[in-house]
Amino acid sequence: MRGVAVLGSTGSIGRSTLAVLRRQREHFRVVALTAGSNASLLESQRLEWNPDFAGLVGPGDASAPGGGPGVLIEAATHPAVDIVVNAVVGAAGLDATLAALRAGKRVALANKESLVMAGELVLEAAREGGGELVPVDSEHSAVLQCLAGHGGQLERLILTASGGPFREWPAERVQEATVEEALRHPTWSMGSKISVDSATLANKALEVIEAHFLYGLPYDRIEVVVHPQSIVHAFVEFGDGSVLAQLGFPTMELPILYALTHPVRLPDSGVPRFDPIAAGSLTFEPVRADLFRTFDLGVAAGRAGGTAPAVFNAANEAAVAAFLDRRIPFGRIADTIHAVLNAHTTQPATALAAVREADRWARARALEEMS
Ligand code: NAD
Ligand code: MG
Repeated sequence: MRGVAVLGSTGSIGRSTLAVLRRQREHFRVVALTAGSNASLLESQRLEWNPDFAGLVGPGDASAPGGGPGVLIEAATHPAVDIVVNAVVGAAGLDATLAALRAGKRVALANKESLVMAGELVLEAAREGGGELVPVDSEHSAVLQCLAGHGGQLERLILTASGGPFREWPAERVQEATVEEALRHPTWSMGSKISVDSATLANKALEVIEAHFLYGLPYDRIEVVVHPQSIVHAFVEFGDGSVLAQLGFPTMELPILYALTHPVRLPDSGVPRFDPIAAGSLTFEPVRADLFRTFDLGVAAGRAGGTAPAVFNAANEAAVAAFLDRRIPFGRIADTIHAVLNAHTTQPATALAAVREADRWARARALEEMS
């Protein structure tokens, strides 16, 4: 019986994680749950799972009794926890990732932002604390599954992207897309921030950076293709030219289950079985640079290294929040990130203080750009 903490249990990935755990009660026990703000859903989850710890981070009040950001650390380092599912959205997830790895836990990482912001520090925390980082992101889970049992040299990764709701739109129309249009993802149902990231393809840039740190590959060996059906999650090419892919209907429950059980597999009757006839034609196309400026900005930030990915991430979070609040049009998301990255002088990201300062600076600068 392994103990699991679910950070962000009220969100899309958090709820999918609990759906997986409901079918695996003989293997896992829910030890800790945390939520950002949805107190009533957290309470009903607490009644269902009877965890040792349930905490609400609350609306930015660190001094609230039983609440505040410390809740995430407490859950992530709880002694009865073996696996921390980090399903918090955004930079708020970083400290818990670091703390869990330092405490020697397995981190099933949905919160890709923590790896993007502070990839070197996250890997160092895992090395020092003996923790283990396992991706929940479907593309990175696909890579891990393709690599399992293969001794050969990893040559190249190709991550797939659905292309989001605007894949076939004229570029001018996308600039004025509404919040409702941006949230209408063709193949995945997700939280609002990652849905907007999928419409701009910022999500895929975050994933390229995530893959760089997880699999230790240089950026020129990580590629992205648009695959509107979201059936192939990633391709892995080995030194001999052989290519493996992992396929399945789009559901996060499979990569979540695999992150809990890797390197073994458990049967899970809840995952829809694959049917190639129902999947139909699988198509692949290049990323449209005219539509997805944010993607290129993010990959360039990854290549620049140091604090640049943290700045990209923070500017993106600030711009997406402003778009969701209807303070800026869709097209201003890329403009804002571009301006903030242009104004930034990249520093080494080998100390947490430098990462935090870059994050703080980028958010403030993004707000100035958008005012
Ligand atoms: P969501 O918005 O549905 O849920 C986010 C969760 O984090 C909620 O429980 C919320 O209460 C909590 N939270 C928000 N702000 C917080 C804060 N400041 N402190 C503590 N908790 C906070 O998001 P989601 O779609 O579940 O995505 C979560 C993470 O997983 C993101 O990093 C996303 O990129 C990643 N991810 C999501 C999917 C997906 O299919 N939804 C797929 C791959 C990766
Ligand atoms: Mg993904």
